Amino acid sequence: MVCHSRAPFVTLALLALVVPGAAADLPAYTPDATVPCDAIPAIYRWDLSPLFASDADWDAARVKLLGEVPALAKYEGKLAEPKTLRECLDLYFRLHDAASFLTQYPNLRQTTAQSDDHAGAMVQSSLGAMDALMQQASFIRREVLALSDQQMAQAYAKEPALAVNRPYLENLRRRASRVLSADAERALSLLGDNLWAEIDLNEIPSSHEDAFNAILTDIPWPKIKDEQGREVQLTQSNYGRYRQSSDRAVRKGAVTAYLGTLRQYQHALAATLAGQFELDVAYARARGYDNALAAYMDKDEVATAVHDNLIATVNANLPLMHRFVALRKQALGLDEVHLYDLYVPLAEGVEREIPFSEARQTLLAGLAPLGTEYGKVLTDGLDPASGWLDLYPCLDKESGAFSASVYGRHPYVMMNYQDSLDDMMTLAHEYGHALHSHLAMKAQPYSGYRYTTVLAEIASTCNEALLSDYLIANAKDPQEKAYLLMSKLEDIRQTIFRQTMFSEFERQVHGFVEAGTPVTATLLEQTYSDLIRKYYGPSFTLDPDDGLEWAYIPHFYYKYYVYSYATGLSSGIAIADRVRTLGQPAVDAYLKMLEGGCAAPPLDLLAGAGVDLTKPDAVAAAMRTFATTLDEVEKLLR
Ligand SMILES: [Zn+2]
Repeated sequence: MVCHSRAPFVTLALLALVVPGAAADLPAYTPDATVPCDAIPAIYRWDLSPLFASDADWDAARVKLLGEVPALAKYEGKLAEPKTLRECLDLYFRLHDAASFLTQYPNLRQTTAQSDDHAGAMVQSSLGAMDALMQQASFIRREVLALSDQQMAQAYAKEPALAVNRPYLENLRRRASRVLSADAERALSLLGDNLWAEIDLNEIPSSHEDAFNAILTDIPWPKIKDEQGREVQLTQSNYGRYRQSSDRAVRKGAVTAYLGTLRQYQHALAATLAGQFELDVAYARARGYDNALAAYMDKDEVATAVHDNLIATVNANLPLMHRFVALRKQALGLDEVHLYDLYVPLAEGVEREIPFSEARQTLLAGLAPLGTEYGKVLTDGLDPASGWLDLYPCLDKESGAFSASVYGRHPYVMMNYQDSLDDMMTLAHEYGHALHSHLAMKAQPYSGYRYTTVLAEIASTCNEALLSDYLIANAKDPQEKAYLLMSKLEDIRQTIFRQTMFSEFERQVHGFVEAGTPVTATLLEQTYSDLIRKYYGPSFTLDPDDGLEWAYIPHFYYKYYVYSYATGLSSGIAIADRVRTLGQPAVDAYLKMLEGGCAAPPLDLLAGAGVDLTKPDAVAAAMRTFATTLDEVEKLLR
């Protein structure tokens, strides 16, 4: 690890800048998930009134929008005319902005008022408004795709103001050659083809995915014994908790019962997965792609070389994973490492409480390497007075954490902060998303600010990497240091190694479908078992049902999506490395990528920040981080 020695100095300089005023004025508060939300001091809750002063205002805006949508119709059939094209797109994006603004208000409100049916109804009717807009605007895509390159060139020359939406137009026309005849398009769309969907693929489940979820819901999970020897009901949601129990009998019981139960449904689950993959391959072939991988990577404008490279580079580094499994064996004092031994924490959690005021100062210090410009935005955004943050848990609030952005305003960060080290890490993660959105919204027009999947988890994981290094360098005691190092290893194991293993599985099984090999439960189990053996190495002992793990992973229904978790964390780590070693020039390049939104192809934006995902470098940087962290942990354990 480089440059740790610089961190404390930067910290002091930065603390001197931000400490006066703000933090001292904040009311003290002890998080308590069982209080009503309005018992939390208002400063720590979202104030949505700047979006809409009242529900009546919101509804008036919805009615106004629905009244404006039909105005798009007058452009239909006329987009070959440059001026009309410009005016049509200007109106479309103004209405889209208004519709998405309309959606965000009830969405955010519902987050902290889950049982409020009125908010739920508002979410539904805002989606109805968005849907009305999308229906009315569907001619735009069709007509833009029908224009020739020459017509487009003339349009750009005649209407310079069209430039503001040029990245959108170019992205739309990029796959024009994949568009089929009107009849064929209609048939594919009726069947649910989403290679052309303009929303996130994961939002449109196929009937195979619905069947998969239905089977998992219907499965009667068995009872197992908990740590006190009591009989408890195993469920999909508590499986993860029992799997990481420090009581070996409990975790073994949970994993054995869970995978053994899946075996009883293996043929139904194999049929839903095979059905999904056959559909993926059919849509790809219908549009003339060589295979499903090419089709779904092309959807996001990512070269298939990125997928190849991820798998090749992780495979070349599998001895590191094998070392990690051996380390588990030694640290836990086991004779054998089984699947059920992979999730138990190797270091005790950190009990120390980290109130928000401390977390905020630590974040500013830990992320100081990202420079003063980033630091200034972060300082403002972390100030509860900015209105970005809904901080503490309460009775009617959603669990988890997220960041959502409202174009033209600011990002909103939802947390369930409970004064723990993990919560502070989550805060760093969500502020990575928030600042990415904030910078992109400032720099880009509405049509160009949303970043795509492959870029989505870079800013968040880069923040985590920088904060983690800062915390390790400033650890309060050896136990905290060990915990932080182990968290880093686990994060890389689960986000890079495991997701790459999933990617490999996804690819092999699509390959079977493409080659005409029948996809049976036996073939799926064999393929998955071989991958586990390869990934976990000689210190790992495979149990008879381990190869059934494929059967409950929902991500296999997401059409080549999981790779982006692994490339996201790799890129985040690689950028954090560059920032530490190269300083300001690396920071400037990184901020430019964040500001880029989706105004250029994602791999071009990323290359600007010094990461070329078609080459091994970024994944190799993450593997190096894993190796050096492993060295440190091995030293600590010695
Ligand atoms: Zn995230």
